[in-house]
Amino acid sequence: MNYAYLHPRDEIALTLSRIYRYKMTTTSGGNLSIIDENGDLWITPSRVDKGTLTPADIVCVKKDGTVVGPHKPSSEYPFHRAIYDVRPDIKAIVHAHPMALVAFSISKKVPDTKLIPQTYRWNGQVGFAPYGIPGSEDLGQKIAVKFADGFDSVILESHGVCCGGKTLQDAFQRFETLELCCKTEIKASLLGEPKFLSEQQLQLESKSDVRLETFEYDPGMMSITEKELRNKICHFVERGYRQRLLAGSTGTFSARIGADSFLITPRPLDRYSVLPEEIVMIRKGKREAGKSPSHAVLSHQAIYDAHPDVQAIINACPLNALAFSVCHKEIDTRTLPECYIFLREVGLLPFETTFNDYAAMTAQLSLRHPAAVLCNNGVMVVGRDLLSAFDQLEVLECSAEAILNSLPIGGHVPMSKQVIDDICKAFNLPE
Ligand SMILES: [Zn+2]
Repeated sequence: MNYAYLHPRDEIALTLSRIYRYKMTTTSGGNLSIIDENGDLWITPSRVDKGTLTPADIVCVKKDGTVVGPHKPSSEYPFHRAIYDVRPDIKAIVHAHPMALVAFSISKKVPDTKLIPQTYRWNGQVGFAPYGIPGSEDLGQKIAVKFADGFDSVILESHGVCCGGKTLQDAFQRFETLELCCKTEIKASLLGEPKFLSEQQLQLESKSDVRLETFEYDPGMMSITEKELRNKICHFVERGYRQRLLAGSTGTFSARIGADSFLITPRPLDRYSVLPEEIVMIRKGKREAGKSPSHAVLSHQAIYDAHPDVQAIINACPLNALAFSVCHKEIDTRTLPECYIFLREVGLLPFETTFNDYAAMTAQLSLRHPAAVLCNNGVMVVGRDLLSAFDQLEVLECSAEAILNSLPIGGHVPMSKQVIDDICKAFNLPE
């Protein structure tokens, strides 16, 4: 979806419903705003149920202070205005109280965003504003000072978080990615010590910007297979977002069309809503003109080249598997027969592998061993089609969550070698 075409009141209502739907605010907490080209500020109203809010409820505070709309503006209007006053580059603000960020807020801690490349790319260093009375000018000044220092994301002591952006979607992606970062650090702490990316690793990622040559694409030549795959990719990306296997800013999906061509998700991309025409065709190592494929395009190409039977590949950062990824721990599949049958042994690959060691990656991943944990970069699964890759991703995430949930009650007991041998025999699993 192209949010640039939405009126501020529609964009605010849509974004807020998304925040509420995914439990990143309560009915009463949180407020969003956009400042338009006239200096008028569009903001969520005070005391209106966030679960039923519509575009007609959004309030406009004109540059001269006149209020237009059926309600009073949010009681936190002062800090929105204070941030816009000190940061003319910020045009939209998201403020809410999602639980993992509140955990940091009440522990008076700032998350280290160097957990995965996306959390750092979106948030950089995070600021911390000392406590102020909600709705006060004093709180506004305390937050604005931090934004004036250059932070785009600021934790509010004993309150929540505030993220700014050049658009509302920019601020929202920052907010959602930061909540994922906090959730991951909390989950990972159950497993051990989370490890953070080094400067060198972050540079390796930021310099991995692939510049493939282009070819002129003619939509009139599209085959039925291609049309079907474009739509299926959109379906599974959006489903992955709704099932919380992806955040808006994480996850790459691809599907093979033929021996030398495949389709892959573009960048940038908001995984909440994807259109078939946004998907990028890669043919003979060249990209469809006018579109940019995901950063993972070369690693997907390497797997398709090495394994002609692989038809689909997914990179994702589901929360529980991500906890293993940032602790550099393997996910044990000897939990349920289903998990072992689908995934067999899940490999653990160093962060660098997907950037510069395709031989190690293709040796690890195949239909025989369809999943791997990538250190500080989520997980990767391959499948004989999109559905099987998606299913394996769900099974992997469920297993990771079950293992994490078992820790406070004594930890899981892996199925014995005898049980595994019996499963291999009964289901005819290859050696
Ligand atoms: Zn608040």
